[in-house]
Amino acid sequence: ATPTAIMVATGVGANNGVLIKGGDALERAQMVNYVVFDKTGTLTQGKASVTTARVFTGMERGEFLTLVASAEASSEHPLAKAIVEYARHFHFFDKPSSTKDTRNHDKESEFSAWLLDVSDFSALPGRGVQCFIDGKQMLVGNRKLLTENGISIPTFAEDFVVELEESAKTGILVAYDSALIGVLGVADPLKREAAVVVEGLVKMGVKPVMVTGDNWRTAQAVAREVGIQDVRAEVMPAGKADAIRSFQKDGSIVAMVGDGINDSPALAAADIGMAIGAGTDIAIEAADYVLMKNNLEDVITAIDLSRKTFSRIR
Ligand code: ADP
Ligand code: MG
Repeated sequence: ATPTAIMVATGVGANNGVLIKGGDALERAQMVNYVVFDKTGTLTQGKASVTTARVFTGMERGEFLTLVASAEASSEHPLAKAIVEYARHFHFFDKPSSTKDTRNHDKESEFSAWLLDVSDFSALPGRGVQCFIDGKQMLVGNRKLLTENGISIPTFAEDFVVELEESAKTGILVAYDSALIGVLGVADPLKREAAVVVEGLVKMGVKPVMVTGDNWRTAQAVAREVGIQDVRAEVMPAGKADAIRSFQKDGSIVAMVGDGINDSPALAAADIGMAIGAGTDIAIEAADYVLMKNNLEDVITAIDLSRKTFSRIR
């Protein structure tokens, strides 16, 4: 392709909300063999919401949700935001009328005032959060987080988590003062176009893959819904780039599509990094392409544009 053709293609991309950082990136996309998708915020809408909250102790529901939201309030994770939002809603709208808060519900300051004091907060990537409330340890996250802290998961709780995971939800376990006190189920719906895009890639001879930090069962349920067969789950943040490199070993050309901070090493490691425009700045910086419309169809647009520009016949 001539420099003019590359310039024109870059312009066509930009007009369609696909920002291409340079002619090399444009050229590589036509050769892609694998497209590796991050799950949360990439294949899914990244709009997680709590669908179930089950308390295992005699603790009141409101008290349970206050504890969990207090622990998650300092986390930026989409799961944390969903939990805080759910607790806020419960606090303001779902309580028995005798205890209902009648003040102006819109003010963030009032919500914050309702949260409990937290000390020694830490976010544990790929696991969840840890902090202390009232001098007692609070853990909110996955099985790994609990077992690493010596907290056992009784069979009835495990069964409940499995049930959530089989319906594509993420089960979040809550431990307080060394005991499991409840479980939340969080759902994050697929993007509307996700399945069509996956099917389109297969038709183009490109293999779709999903990588996620989420657990195997949820990952597989989501992959089944979207039509992806090759899944890598329970991948720690640093592991996503390793996954990319494993696909590159036989000389395959690999594209990575992601949105999060966790995805930036993988976006950089991939032959073609594609960041979702609504994603984090770090991901956008690490990528060769930015999909400004947050629409996965633009993965196909990008490959098509490259194929047409370099008129490679397959
Ligand atoms: P993803 O690849 O889906 O973005 P992450 O590495 O961010 O995954 O998280 C992996 C898993 O760790 C989540 O599915 C969840 O079980 C747990 N986790 C991470 N952060 C939190 C949090 N703030 N609250 C609860 N669970 C969390
Ligand atoms: Mg993500």
